[in-house]
Amino acid sequence: MKTLVYIDHFKGEVQPGSWEALGLGKSLGPVSAVVFGPGMEAVVSAAFEYGADEVLLADDPALLDYRPEPFAAALTAIITAQSPDLVLLPTTTRTRELAAMSAFDLNSGVLVDLTGLEAEGDKVIATRPIYEGKLQEKVVCSARPQFATLRARAFPKPAPEAGRTGTLTKVEVSPQPVSTVEGYAASESTVNLTDAGVIVSGGRGVSNNPSLTPPAGLDEKQAEIWRAHQGFALIGDLANVLDGAVGASRAAVDGGYIPYSHQVGQTGKVVTPDLYIACGISGAIQHLVGMRNAKVVVAINKDADAPIFTQARYGVVGDLFVLVPAITEAFKKKLGK
Ligand SMILES: Cc1cc2nc3c(=O)[nH]c(=O)nc-3n(C[C@H](O)[C@H](O)[C@H](O)COP(=O)(O)OP(=O)(O)OC[C@H]3O[C@@H](n4cnc5c(N)ncnc54)[C@H](O)[C@@H]3O)c2cc1C
Repeated sequence: MKTLVYIDHFKGEVQPGSWEALGLGKSLGPVSAVVFGPGMEAVVSAAFEYGADEVLLADDPALLDYRPEPFAAALTAIITAQSPDLVLLPTTTRTRELAAMSAFDLNSGVLVDLTGLEAEGDKVIATRPIYEGKLQEKVVCSARPQFATLRARAFPKPAPEAGRTGTLTKVEVSPQPVSTVEGYAASESTVNLTDAGVIVSGGRGVSNNPSLTPPAGLDEKQAEIWRAHQGFALIGDLANVLDGAVGASRAAVDGGYIPYSHQVGQTGKVVTPDLYIACGISGAIQHLVGMRNAKVVVAINKDADAPIFTQARYGVVGDLFVLVPAITEAFKKKLGK
């Protein structure tokens, strides 16, 4: 099976899911990586090291900043010239749009956010979770080429082979952008939860430490948020020691404790870390659907009957304001930090 893998990056910083896609493509047969943008020598080298036999590089300056029209036109042109059986992309905000537009141009379809993929001749049989992860669905794409976007961390990331090279082919795609990117501004808070190996999450319980005395002059809501910030500082310390990211329940986000970008669950992010530590989170179904595919779940909650314990491999009943700092200290010692 001939596979093209689109390497998704922001200014040369590659989404790790691209390498997972490359590893999967390699396991199916010859694989070419598609890299867009000028000055991408490091990305090209990394693509070879992660298993690409060939890199198709479109280094037109118009492909420096992502915009759907020129990127889709360029990808469609490359696919038309190469005639792959399968086009793999990591699932990101950009690639959902890009894959859909290119597949539309080619009168094909996209298998979206896959957690499994098997090959049968030149056909792929894809697995993806449906109904909030309660069922796994098998889907095939009857049109060609087949497009598939892969859920982050659902497929193994191959080990890079230092110094490995392959064929570098420069492709002329002459994109005609209809817009330019004037600049970027950092949002209030950015966190990459979908690629995180460890996530420490806080819920409404992070504001529940009555022994903390807020500064004078705060009203009740402001005092609650102040308390929650002390709680999330502890969550952040634990996440830092474990090189992880901070997640949150919707109650914590709605309460104004932490920005929405941290929310895990049905209306937040779906995450698949190796370790998920839920602190002061009850375990409502809408939260569970976002994290139940974590490999190991640890729950810390005052209430022994909290539903989160049904998902947890390790459950600790107690006050997070006592337990989280104690666990952080224990990890610091264990990891020599
Ligand atoms: C359409 C829809 C979509 C939704 N989407 C999401 C979503 O994406 N993500 C999400 O999370 N929710 C979502 N929700 C909300 C969800 O139903 C719950 O309301 C929410 O998850 C509850 O958050 P929580 O567990 O932090 O709060 P709570 O349910 O209030 O639980 C707080 C927990 O903290 C514990 N606790 C309190 N103090 C301490 C302490 N000091 N130490 C230890 N434990 C303590 C309590 O025992 C309790 O179990 C959605 C709801 C709807 C209707």
